Amino acid sequence: MENPTGAVVPPISLATTFQQAHPGQATAPEDPNSFGLGYEYSRTGNPTRGALERAIAAAEHARYSVAYSSGSAATSAVVHCLEHGSHIVCVDDVYGGTQRYFRRIVTPTMGMTIEFVDMSTSSSENSDSPLSLEFAPQTKLVWLETPTNPTLKITDISKVAAVTKKQNCLLAVDNTFCSPYFQNPLSLGADLVVHSVTKYIGGHSDVVMGVVCTNREDLYQKLRFTQNGVGAVPSPFDCFLAHRGLKTLHLRMEAAARNAHAIALFLQSHEGVQKVVYPGLSSHPQHELAKRQQHGFGAMITFYCKGGRKEAAVFLKHLRVFALAESLGAVESLAESPSLMTHASVPDEQRAKLGIDDSLIRLSIGVESCRDLIDDLRNSLVVLVESMGGLK
Ligand SMILES: *Cc1c(COP(=O)(O)O)cnc(C)c1O
Repeated sequence: MENPTGAVVPPISLATTFQQAHPGQATAPEDPNSFGLGYEYSRTGNPTRGALERAIAAAEHARYSVAYSSGSAATSAVVHCLEHGSHIVCVDDVYGGTQRYFRRIVTPTMGMTIEFVDMSTSSSENSDSPLSLEFAPQTKLVWLETPTNPTLKITDISKVAAVTKKQNCLLAVDNTFCSPYFQNPLSLGADLVVHSVTKYIGGHSDVVMGVVCTNREDLYQKLRFTQNGVGAVPSPFDCFLAHRGLKTLHLRMEAAARNAHAIALFLQSHEGVQKVVYPGLSSHPQHELAKRQQHGFGAMITFYCKGGRKEAAVFLKHLRVFALAESLGAVESLAESPSLMTHASVPDEQRAKLGIDDSLIRLSIGVESCRDLIDDLRNSLVVLVESMGGLK
């Protein structure tokens, strides 16, 4: 029954319901994409979605993966694994949407408390000191994102996992920035891995989707139950697109990371740039940790231009190849100002604490010709420097 037609691409299965041979007997339990459950109703199980989930699990070296209609819905599915009254410890410069969800939805409506902690310092180079995390008995989840957005801070996943294991607390890692190609947190001790499939896995800026991966059968059962019970499932067509994207993930990540490395070196040498943050540069404070923990340095670059808000705006306005846009992780290169765009909702003092000032520019490097990208950046930096009446 597995693939009776031999189609090399999983068909887009649009049926919402599946004909049963006997009342209460699901169809095709032997189809591997149905995970032994068979099909009865498409929210509960769908062949196109099943094929994608199996493929993403393989890419993340996970036993299981469960797909949701967005990365944010995947995040909420992890929180649904917890009990009322749980305490969550979260990395401080977490994705803005995750912060908003924790602060404004989970805290007031789900009877949970959240604490935001800088975890990169306790995992800094050559530090064998245990992680100084304060755990309460009700601390049930540590939420990490590494590298973070937009300051690309890196947390030592193994070190945090050693602490959470002892405390009988779950460790979830949002692995969106590295993608399964450059980092596999389950092998470093995490219990759950979350991806916004919208970014690198989809890879073409045309699907919004999320996924949670795990090796634990008990968590998998909870995630499936939530997927069906809450109902935030991706459409069969979106699953088809994400599956197609996944097939070129390794090629896109290699090409984008190669471009990013060259661009980081270029920016570092330019007079219009104050500072470049890229885990692949030896100037990155956690370069050694990145080398150890990741299989590549990724394709996100953050840099501080000379000047402030006005100069950053001049720079962004003159880009021609980079699109001025939020989001990341697709074949096309994007540039944005976190303080004015993705992180505008973060309170001023919190932004200052995280080092997100008006001169900070975030680049998501795509797979275009590297020369075109560098020429584009150079041209815009020339205009920036001219707008300041030249430097010195
Ligand atoms: C985009 C993103 C999310 C949220 O994903 P959506 O698919 O937009 O809901 C979560 N975490 C990170 C790191 C992201 O970049």
